[in-house]
Amino acid sequence: MENSLGAKISGMKDWLVSIRRTIHMNPELMFEEEETARLVAEWLGKFGLQVQKGVAKTGVVGLLRGEKAGKTVAIRADMDALPLEEANPFSYASKVKGKMHACGHDAHVTILLGVAKFFASIRQQVAGNIKWIFQPAEEGGGGARIMVEEGVLENPKVEAIFGAHVYPEIQIGKVGINEREGLAATDRFIIKMIGKGGHGAYPHYSKDPILAAGHVITQIHSIVARNINPLDSAVVTIGKVSGGTAFNIIPDEVELLGTVRSLIPAVREELKSRLEQVARGVAGSFGMDYRWDFQYGYPALVNDPQMSRLVAEACAQGIGKGNVEFLKPSMGGEDFAYYLEKVPGAFFRLGCRNEAKGIIHPFHSSLFDIDEDVLPFGVEMFVRIIDEYLGLKLI
Ligand SMILES: [Zn+2]
Ligand SMILES: [Zn+2]
Repeated sequence: MENSLGAKISGMKDWLVSIRRTIHMNPELMFEEEETARLVAEWLGKFGLQVQKGVAKTGVVGLLRGEKAGKTVAIRADMDALPLEEANPFSYASKVKGKMHACGHDAHVTILLGVAKFFASIRQQVAGNIKWIFQPAEEGGGGARIMVEEGVLENPKVEAIFGAHVYPEIQIGKVGINEREGLAATDRFIIKMIGKGGHGAYPHYSKDPILAAGHVITQIHSIVARNINPLDSAVVTIGKVSGGTAFNIIPDEVELLGTVRSLIPAVREELKSRLEQVARGVAGSFGMDYRWDFQYGYPALVNDPQMSRLVAEACAQGIGKGNVEFLKPSMGGEDFAYYLEKVPGAFFRLGCRNEAKGIIHPFHSSLFDIDEDVLPFGVEMFVRIIDEYLGLKLI
């Protein structure tokens, strides 16, 4: 089967490229992925899959029930683009002003359609069920959480799930995987120091929230250094400081906005409680009031070690062990974490970097691009993983 598998997938390349470019030219932001969803549903229908639309607003689910009984496996793509003006000069650059597929989700959708095309063409050899999850709103909207709430992991019950992200830090032709923790929990906080405004020349009549905010900023940066186990990982970043109007006015209040990242729940809770303690303690020391808000974002993404080994081994069979890299976790976030909270599975990376072609720009850059060879490559990796998980022995 080896050669016919490769030939079948490489024969898809032009089709994959044309789908990817169509989606790339027509980016849609979170929960607005109407046209992308329509294109997805149309192809899944053509392949003879069972199709469900309108899940989590714009999500689409495809189901292939194999001829023979077996396990149920799901694979997932995210469909949303970013509010960013594309700076790439090519003919298939975004046609929509201020919107761009700068995170490669156009490639994810395309790769999953390729996998659907492949299995639809050999469905009599499929034992078990394969579910395709095309979700909206990965970029901050938590589309995955809503898909899960709306029952995407049920009926038939999903027993394992796999997802991938194209990855500009890895060379084309390579796969990256984390054995366990892969990406961080992404929480936010707001701290407000509430003092008493007045004239800059008479500070003794005021309570200066700017000075207090300065102390908060300094103390917050001691949390990772002095409260977290050095062998665990955490980030605290203050991204916005606002307060004040003029050089000689002490304002009433100063607001700090920040993000906290962690890989394990205990660290997540420690960060939360220490942040509040710092805000309360500093405010108290200046005799002023404070406000505090902590918003939980995506949970940490944690692969099932057995499933990540399955991914590594299935991919290595096609590309050799040397092209599968075990990666350190990243402190970015991914809402694929919500599926992994419910079902064992693994999230992996598909190298899409190609320095010879100038494809070197990071995610969310206006010059982000992928080597389109990642499209058939991604299809092959998913096919190998599903083949391995369902025990089809196609390869
Ligand atoms: Zn992104
Ligand atoms: Zn992304």
